[in-house]
Amino acid sequence: LWNQALKHLENDLNGQQFHTWILPLQAIEEESSIRLLAPSTFILDWVNKRLMDNIRNAIHIVAPTNPPEIQLEIGDYVLDNVEEPEPTVPQPLQTKTKKAESKAEAPSHGIKSNLNPSFTFETFVEGKANQLAAAAARQVAENPGGSYNPFFIYGGVGLGKTHLMHAIGNKLIKDNPKARVVYLHSERFVADMVNALRHNKIDEFKRFYRSLDALLIDDIQFFANKEQSQEEFFHTFNTLLEGNKQVILTSDRFPKEVDGLEDRLKSRFGWGLTIAVEPPEFEMRVAILLKKAAEFNVVLPDEVAFFIAKRLRGNVRDLEGALKRVGAYAQFTQQTLTVDIVKEALKDLLALQQKMVTLENIQKTVADYYKIRVADILSKRRSRNVARPRQIAMAIAKELTNHSLPEIGDAFGGRDHTTVLHAVRKVKELRETDHHIDEDFNSLVRIITN
Ligand code: ADP
Ligand code: MG
Repeated sequence: LWNQALKHLENDLNGQQFHTWILPLQAIEEESSIRLLAPSTFILDWVNKRLMDNIRNAIHIVAPTNPPEIQLEIGDYVLDNVEEPEPTVPQPLQTKTKKAESKAEAPSHGIKSNLNPSFTFETFVEGKANQLAAAAARQVAENPGGSYNPFFIYGGVGLGKTHLMHAIGNKLIKDNPKARVVYLHSERFVADMVNALRHNKIDEFKRFYRSLDALLIDDIQFFANKEQSQEEFFHTFNTLLEGNKQVILTSDRFPKEVDGLEDRLKSRFGWGLTIAVEPPEFEMRVAILLKKAAEFNVVLPDEVAFFIAKRLRGNVRDLEGALKRVGAYAQFTQQTLTVDIVKEALKDLLALQQKMVTLENIQKTVADYYKIRVADILSKRRSRNVARPRQIAMAIAKELTNHSLPEIGDAFGGRDHTTVLHAVRKVKELRETDHHIDEDFNSLVRIITN
């Protein structure tokens, strides 16, 4: 039962949540209940607070008539298992749940890599927004422990950092099944360390992490203000680097900007290669939708993909969610997907996006960004420091809203529609020639649509 529920949970949650919080749970199925053992109070609390509804839903789906009761409790089966004499096989402090181990992955050293086999380079769509990161990731996978060490990927949520990181790990293991590769969310690292301390297993913990060929730590911003974990990580990190072992890290922002992180860590994180992933541009959003549609067996006509890509911006995770939703809708209603059906299926999402992206909001955001006043944008002033932001705001308005050129002109201090058209063209041209403007434009779109 739990294994079936896991499949639903994997669909329901994002990969990181699933890997960090759900997979570590060990299920003991009894007659009318399922006991879920969490390896630490940290995980127990988290699951209890945030994921119980998802778990209950999943159980309901697989056992709709009389769903078993769910009991969440603490269970130290992991550490108990470590005590089993297995002299030649160092046991990770990772959970030893067998349920989620992929068959393809049967490393003789018995380390659980935590890699999601579906996050590969083959399933990763490349575009302008991530092509540098993807190229560098391939390099790292080809030449681990080489000059891109540590390899640091940063960027907003849902932009493929975790996916890319797993892709490297999967490639490393594919090329060398003996490679000791471990993926871990940083919170998991912290939790495991706390657990190890509590059980006097810290030496084992250290030995384990320092014995790896590649260590992949996700979302290191969660190390913030956890001094002891930072300390331990710092030493692990150094040991691995000295041994030319690959370290891969991700974060939601540039390493130096992660608050609550020790300076020496920040500076060391920058020793290798640091690369950003950006929000996908339109073409990439279309490509992602088409690729995922094929993956999910959803028949997605091009015009429908265009429509979704135009209307839903921001991150890949949301696109994926939208696609799953329209796919399910098409299946239930047994209809072929059309733009109208998608409008219906995504009504609330589209409304939400629409509501946030008002002309006023665009003007205000652009004004704040360039440190001018909204009144300047609406004014007749032509000096470059207001004219440029004004043009950018108009171009963004055209791109993000369904307002017509005359409507946009009206809202921008009663300008003519040809002025708006000119602004749109000008900004397009500028973005192609001046990367500062292009970056400003992208940042603004991101701020406005998030
Ligand atoms: P992040 O770690 O940056 O928050 P994830 O790697 O978890 O983002 O990506 C969120 C979801 O979007 C995952 O299901 C992932 O497979 C998918 N995804 C993100 N970027 C891409 C991409 N370029 N191609 C294909 N799928 C992607
Ligand atoms: Mg992630």
